[in-house]
Amino acid sequence: MNWEIVIGLEVHVQLKTQSKAFCGCKTTYGSPPNSQTCPVCLGYPGALPVLNREVVNSAIKAGLATHSKIRYRSGFARKNYFYPDLPKGYQISQYTDPICYDGYIQIPTEEGKKKIGLIRIHMEEDAGKSMHTENGTLIDLNRCGIPLLEIVSCPDIRSPQEAYTYLTTLKQIIRYTGISDCNMEEGSLRCDANLSVRPMGEKTLGTRTELKNMNSFHGVEKALAYEANRQITCLEAGEPIEQQTLLWNEQTQRAEPMRSKEESHDYRYFPEPDLVDVQLTDAWIQDIKAVMPELPEERLSRFIKHYGLSEEDSLVLTAEHEIADYFEAAVQGFQDISLMNHWIRGEILRILKEKQISIDQCPISPKALRDLLTYLLNKKITPQTAKTVLDNMVKTGESADKIIEKKGLLSITSSEELDALIRNIVEKHPEEVKKYRQGKTQLLGFFMGQVMKATKGRADQKITRHILQRYLDATEE
Ligand SMILES: [Zn+2]
Repeated sequence: MNWEIVIGLEVHVQLKTQSKAFCGCKTTYGSPPNSQTCPVCLGYPGALPVLNREVVNSAIKAGLATHSKIRYRSGFARKNYFYPDLPKGYQISQYTDPICYDGYIQIPTEEGKKKIGLIRIHMEEDAGKSMHTENGTLIDLNRCGIPLLEIVSCPDIRSPQEAYTYLTTLKQIIRYTGISDCNMEEGSLRCDANLSVRPMGEKTLGTRTELKNMNSFHGVEKALAYEANRQITCLEAGEPIEQQTLLWNEQTQRAEPMRSKEESHDYRYFPEPDLVDVQLTDAWIQDIKAVMPELPEERLSRFIKHYGLSEEDSLVLTAEHEIADYFEAAVQGFQDISLMNHWIRGEILRILKEKQISIDQCPISPKALRDLLTYLLNKKITPQTAKTVLDNMVKTGESADKIIEKKGLLSITSSEELDALIRNIVEKHPEEVKKYRQGKTQLLGFFMGQVMKATKGRADQKITRHILQRYLDATEE
């Protein structure tokens, strides 16, 4: 039997606001435990929350970026449960009237673009963090009250791979809006999944299970593949699927049932009595629209149209808005767009990968790269030299000008100088010359290599090839 996999994802993104959702505490990542707390986020009796306007602005931005409808009046609710790192005994969240609803994002698939619906985007606050040590469990409440958006997809995802693409695309869109870093390692993006399977063509949904505790997008993909497989095996053996919550274990690569004690389905939601409803106006939404940055799809099509780049190149350059910014800064006033693209895609991305850094931390500024490539464009240095200079720039932090001058790296373009040098090399290799003349013309590469070695890569390639061919193709011995 053919089975259809049905997946819905719940993504939590941590907002990059300066202060928490309902108090003035700072949100700096990595601060000493419990150094960013106050009576409100510690849940002291009588302390009253005040909504951070920036949280609402961020939610509107997320809504606009995902074609969502925006609710003009939405309220907060208490989600009650007991946990040691939740001092109030409830999280402030939204329940019946989330601020955004009915949206979608488009993801690339092999059959073209596919729409994945979004049921809702709502605002809520984070809980604290328990740290289990050898000597017991410690609690850090810095994270308590940090604003989150929960983005809930429709069950439109049909494979673990599609779930991966959905997460990548959603992360890209959210990062472009600037409201979150979406850094899974720092916990600023978290994902839970619901999965069920049904016979192909069946309309009603099968019994679903919930998956938690995945720490990377690939982790999500693997956990979903595991769970889909498990459910199909069960159903084929005639066993029913039990509705339950499973925790992905990265070590064993298995999804294990949560202890039932930890499961709590009844949150006894009720309206938050300490906060008034959020009441939006057209002017407010208009103000946010006015400051919305360009989104990935728009930027992609602008790169193709404006710079004449291929779709593939544009996809790489716009994958992260910081890379797109870098490219646009570097290419300013530079004549050869394709050369710039080639160097950023090749060398700059290679450096980032090797050093495991983001482009913001790139040791080569856009201007420094442009200065280097201007030498190359004007044929003052060879491509080989340019790579050497770039590596030196990374190592020393010095400018291209300085390195080229200090090391005397300008190209040798003088025909006389190259002629003497090439004649010398040809005379030193009579065997290779003989073979070349007998038809082994690929030896031209060998001679080019010898010239480059002798000049440390500074010989102008075109002139060198020209002179070499003249000597090698000469018939007289
Ligand atoms: Zn606080």
